[in-house]
Amino acid sequence: MTNSSKILLDESELPTHWYNVIPDMPTAPEPYLGPDGQPVSPDQLAAIFPPAIIEQEVSQERWIPIPEPVREALLLWRPSPLFRARQLEQALGTPARIYYKYEGVSPAGSHKPNSAVAQAYYNREAGIRKLTTETGAGQWGSSLALAGQMFGLDVEIYMVKVSYHQKPFRRSMMETWGGKVIASPSNLTEAGRAELARDPDSQGSLGIAISEAVEVAASRSDTNYALGSVLNHVLLHQTVIGQEAKAQLAKVGAYPDVVFSPCGGGSNVGGMMFPFLADKAAGKEVRLVAVEPTSCPTLTRGHFAYDFGDTAGLTPMMKMFTLGHDFMPPGIHAGGLRYHGDSALVSQLYKDGIIEAIAVPQLATFEAGLLFARTQGIIAAPEACHAIRAAVDEALRCKESGEAKTILFTLSGHGHFDMASYDKYLAGELEDYDYPEEAIQQALHRLPKVR
Ligand SMILES: *Cc1c(COP(=O)(O)O)cnc(C)c1O
Repeated sequence: MTNSSKILLDESELPTHWYNVIPDMPTAPEPYLGPDGQPVSPDQLAAIFPPAIIEQEVSQERWIPIPEPVREALLLWRPSPLFRARQLEQALGTPARIYYKYEGVSPAGSHKPNSAVAQAYYNREAGIRKLTTETGAGQWGSSLALAGQMFGLDVEIYMVKVSYHQKPFRRSMMETWGGKVIASPSNLTEAGRAELARDPDSQGSLGIAISEAVEVAASRSDTNYALGSVLNHVLLHQTVIGQEAKAQLAKVGAYPDVVFSPCGGGSNVGGMMFPFLADKAAGKEVRLVAVEPTSCPTLTRGHFAYDFGDTAGLTPMMKMFTLGHDFMPPGIHAGGLRYHGDSALVSQLYKDGIIEAIAVPQLATFEAGLLFARTQGIIAAPEACHAIRAAVDEALRCKESGEAKTILFTLSGHGHFDMASYDKYLAGELEDYDYPEEAIQQALHRLPKVR
């Protein structure tokens, strides 16, 4: 037991296995479907993924060993610290105890390298020379560039054009780690050219950038594709977060009443929450809440349906909550939360009522981020500010009711590359934006017809 606000694990306590939630799900996730409406075969995935990743995607094993070279890479920044937010608690005057798991200690500044190093390793083992990927805000692209550098792979990154221009330092970061960055839509791919023909001034979207990266990977045998969220294996790799957090809380005799994680494609939600699901299934009471922006309300207002992961429809169809694969996100500042869909695993667990979801407006997230920076010191990524907002609101409810709940949230990354967004907030130039109901209804008509 310790009174310190910072709870650390030894290197020897880095998890040895990833936790696969699939065997513990009450409803099995629906299979991915190919263009013919039939479940995708492993062979079809082999055009863009290495065998080990394909195996993980459909594995029924509850525990999957983390290869030693991947553990060595993870040890560069893991185990990550867990903090008790005492100064924030004091500022709020809440009886609640607030803990946060800080993933901003990785070299790229977020949780994303946890999966990037695993994916780079398995691709290298399969003899692959180059990885393609997409990036929005630049978090995933920089994580994969870092991992490519660590495992000796070339990395080509299709970066959503609006971010390419707005976030030049994320681009420099990727290039510093040896990545090649291309503004998307580009004229290097069919998908990019189609979008440019439709709108020569297109600022791009994650959906289009994915189409470009997949197209390039599928056309070359020495090149594979890597995705930073959404897919089962990515969530699997992120489960080191929740396993560590549980062990850290156990050191101070704590267990959360409620867990909040920001939700884009669902990888840090899965990573944090899945290790708590087994306890929940065994009767333990713990609320698991995904937090998304009101401008991209995938879980809270989207359709649970088969949809593509990208704009051009090159990826398999996944049964998930979606705003439609042609969703054009409003220009909000939490770039990592602007994806039209969500992990099939998180979607199914939300459908089954095991994971909850809430949406919060942009201004309130920055307000919480500012309070957090001024109490705990860390300037959070705008994505992470969504979880801070939810934790602060819960702590304020505890103040009303007098309940001393234990709140845990994922501080998924730092915001050092997002200062332009903080700048806008401080200058009073940011706005709230609710995604219009009409657009959600319209998207329903453009979902692929399945069966
Ligand atoms: C990418 C990102 C997210 C959202 O992605 P998920 O896959 O939903 O976890 C959240 N926070 C940060 C800091 C990110 O970089």
